[in-house]
Amino acid sequence: MTRSLGYLNGRFIQLSENVLPLEERGLQFSDSVYEVVKVYNGVPFTLPEHIERLNHSATSILLDLPIPSEKIMEIAKDGISQLNMDHGTVYIQITRGNADRNHEFPENSQENIIMIWKTGLAGLSGTISEGKSLITVPDERWSNCFIKSTCLLPNVIAKEKAVRNGFYEALFIRSGEIKECSSMNIFLVKDGIIKTPPADQSILNGITRQKVIEVAKRAGLVVLEVKLSMDDVEVSDEVFITSTTKEVVPVTKVDQFSIGDGKPGETYKLIHQLFSEAIEEECRAVIELQSD
Ligand code: PMP
Repeated sequence: MTRSLGYLNGRFIQLSENVLPLEERGLQFSDSVYEVVKVYNGVPFTLPEHIERLNHSATSILLDLPIPSEKIMEIAKDGISQLNMDHGTVYIQITRGNADRNHEFPENSQENIIMIWKTGLAGLSGTISEGKSLITVPDERWSNCFIKSTCLLPNVIAKEKAVRNGFYEALFIRSGEIKECSSMNIFLVKDGIIKTPPADQSILNGITRQKVIEVAKRAGLVVLEVKLSMDDVEVSDEVFITSTTKEVVPVTKVDQFSIGDGKPGETYKLIHQLFSEAIEEECRAVIELQSD
């Protein structure tokens, strides 16, 4: 059974509590940024990287974090302890606060800091034997997808289209280039070389994406951050997608095209193994540190 805990502006609360006024800028304008961190064995994996990206997202929308990064990390860990969480997620959202509904920034509002902890997610998952499928959709999002803002309506609609048509995820295509999925980054493999779209302003630079690139390069694999099109997808030997909650997921079908031999490939299996080792390393390291 999933257990949960909430937090708002200094107070731990139940998720069912009515705590925010109706005129709230995150609610009315999606005027907010967020992060999702996965917890393994009670340890929030790559928490500093997530908080750094939260800072970057906040700065990019001219939003001040109401409390320092260190304090946010402390609260995240506090919630994990309070819930006695083994595996799960921590959701962190900062909004521009409560104010009368006007487009311009309010003069004296106080940012809201919201956190949600949920247990119930599996820990480190094994390799997936059945590849997943992607449906391509036009990228109708704005030009600043590097910001992890809660303006997620195009992502939500794209994912719904995927699900309604029997696909696992939706792949955004913009100006003939593949970009990313509704909530996951994408990698192609051709002749042993791993390729992924560059982390410019048009995609979210996933923390999992960065970790996968790091572990792959460390293992001696070639990773290229290059512009890619559906032509590249169609001739690729392997495709896999990544995110914090889903980790590394093999893809064997994109629209009507079957990828490689239609089964998850060896590069996926290797990346999955390397990524799992990175999680084990970091989580064990933190556990060892805490027990000193
Ligand atoms: N792209 C988008 C649009 C996302 O929402 C996510 C999930 N946050 C990702 C990529 C993957 O990012 P991460 O690995 O940091 O979870």
